[in-house]
Amino acid sequence: MIIVMDGKTPEEKIKHVIKRVEDEGLKAHLSRGTEKIIIGVIGDERKIKIDQIKAIEGVEQVMPILKPYKLASREFKKEDTIIEIDDVTIGGKEIAVMAGPCAVEDEERILETAKAVKKAGAKILRGGAYKPRTGPYAFHGLGEEGLRYLARAREQTGLLIVTEVMDTRTVGLVAKYADILQIGTRNMQNYPLLREVGKIDKPVLLKRGMWATLDEFLLAAEYILSEGNRKVILCERGIRTFSNFTRNTLDLNIIPAIKKVSHLPIIVDPSHGTGRKDLVPAMSKASIAAGADGLILEVHKNPELAVSDADQTISTEEFAKLMKELKPVAEAVGRTL
Ligand code: PEP
Ligand code: MN
Repeated sequence: MIIVMDGKTPEEKIKHVIKRVEDEGLKAHLSRGTEKIIIGVIGDERKIKIDQIKAIEGVEQVMPILKPYKLASREFKKEDTIIEIDDVTIGGKEIAVMAGPCAVEDEERILETAKAVKKAGAKILRGGAYKPRTGPYAFHGLGEEGLRYLARAREQTGLLIVTEVMDTRTVGLVAKYADILQIGTRNMQNYPLLREVGKIDKPVLLKRGMWATLDEFLLAAEYILSEGNRKVILCERGIRTFSNFTRNTLDLNIIPAIKKVSHLPIIVDPSHGTGRKDLVPAMSKASIAAGADGLILEVHKNPELAVSDADQTISTEEFAKLMKELKPVAEAVGRTL
């Protein structure tokens, strides 16, 4: 349920409400809007005596959240969540572009790609050091060595780093190097992992499970939020389909659908969403037109040599061209790039 309080309520009254909630063994999540203070109550709501809470000074309304996800819902928080990392914002007016190879392959290549995507206007460098691969004999990433190369690329370019974490045991290590931790499609319902990244103070990029419904996607986000981490960025990356001309079907429907029911930012991954580099430019533009807050794109200095996902990886030159083409699309929908 949510408890709505007047924005001018004295601090001690807010603390009092939170204490009443916590004394019953429930969790209280405070959110300060411009005019109202919202306290999200998570747990067995039957323990809360609504009439008593309503009697406390400053409390205006006590109401149930009807959606299965609570903290992720617009009922809990009306304003869009804007995540700020240094001078980059995700979820505001600016379109955030994350670009880089599927996997970190070696130091020289990641540096070359980082410099090129930075020059073209990307703000965030992507690259997997821990790679989830379909088969056990494929390249699984360089591990910590790869994280070190990413950190060096950040030092040299000023780009922020987004990279995947696959295992609860490496959350601390990945968080030491990364600015944003990525949860991949296969781990969207890995609940211990979601809880673990919910305990850290770094943004999490949560990719939609390739099978996940909208509710399942937001409930996965809820796991992270409920542990205290409010910095969740959703990512549509395509869903499994009967169609066979693409790797996945990129479900752009979910962008406006999510915006309606959730305050969380959502970006799109047209590389995995299509599996085809020739479709990436059009689907990047379509994503921004549909209201996405950003893009994550696989880009390589020489895609022919990419160790993984070469088919869906665009070259640094193609990326630079695309960035120029995206600008007027962003402006047409009131965004900046
Ligand atoms: C990736 O971004 O490299 C990746 C493995 O993506 P996904 O989890 O969406 O397949
Ligand atoms: Mn990939």
